Amino acid sequence: MAAEIIDGRKIADSLLSALAEEIRGKGLKPKLATVLVGEDPASVSYVAGKIRACERIGVASDAHRLPASVTEGELLKLVGKLNADRSVHGILVQFPLPPHLSEKKVTEAISEEKDVDGFSPRSLGRLFGGDESMPAATPAGVTYLLEAAGVRIAGSHAVVVGRSITVGKPLAAMLLNRDATVTVCHSKTRDLASHTRQADILCVAVGKPGMVSAGMVKKGATVVDVGTTRVDGRLAGDVDFDAVREVAGKITPVPRGIGPMTIASLMRNTVRACERAAAR
Ligand code: NAP
Repeated sequence: MAAEIIDGRKIADSLLSALAEEIRGKGLKPKLATVLVGEDPASVSYVAGKIRACERIGVASDAHRLPASVTEGELLKLVGKLNADRSVHGILVQFPLPPHLSEKKVTEAISEEKDVDGFSPRSLGRLFGGDESMPAATPAGVTYLLEAAGVRIAGSHAVVVGRSITVGKPLAAMLLNRDATVTVCHSKTRDLASHTRQADILCVAVGKPGMVSAGMVKKGATVVDVGTTRVDGRLAGDVDFDAVREVAGKITPVPRGIGPMTIASLMRNTVRACERAAAR
């Protein structure tokens, strides 16, 4: 029997509706500042998607567009201004930045309370310590989706393929926080399939279309495909969806999988940041 498809769009929609309700019900006035540097079409479209989500649920947005030629000093000055603006609860600087700008410096410049992407060393440190008050948005989207789809995480063997600091590593920490036994694989892992075949939950965040074949998946496993690579103008995941669907128990598609969950998690972080600011 083919695997059940976990509809990330549907789960994200219900999370967004719940957030909209919470904003109305509590009279919150959350605001997300977005900063887009340059004209990279993928980045333009990601930021537009985030602003649409804001409009949909009642989060105000404050969109800043800077030319690709902006200096690091000018960008950091804008971040400083947004840090000081009490009406702004979340700051999102869309990556990748042009090569002359340090993503590390920009990430570290965003104030702790407004780091809604959850990328800063402080947010990540807290996450690894078990405090998920500002979880990295994509890993938070994955764990929310797994829980919403009724996947049992505690006691399961979760295998994460990919160890980036924005996806693979924080995802491994969040699965560990939920009592999974976690294996993390990367480009130097020997015999990748021998690890992935042991997974009850297999999460793949690599960026190599179709790299996970049916033979790499245990029968009945839950497969979460985080990968998104543009191939001939369409988004492709890291998992060979049609083949793996015949083996897995549950599987996320690309698109309509983790992409919408990442945006919904960003909105949740923004609403939580607003609530915390209101309580201060
Ligand atoms: P990244 O920084 O390039 O990291 C890729 C990871 O994959 C690295 O840890 C790398 O290992 C590992 N890797 C590369 N080749 C491998 C192989 N043959 N076998 C096993 N591991 C291998 O990428 P990222 O930012 O984590 O993103 C990963 C993918 O997720 C991309 O397609 C990205 O577009 C997508 N993504 C999607 C969302 C979403 O919202 N849906 C959000 C973020 C990212 P090393 O560390 O050894 O180099």
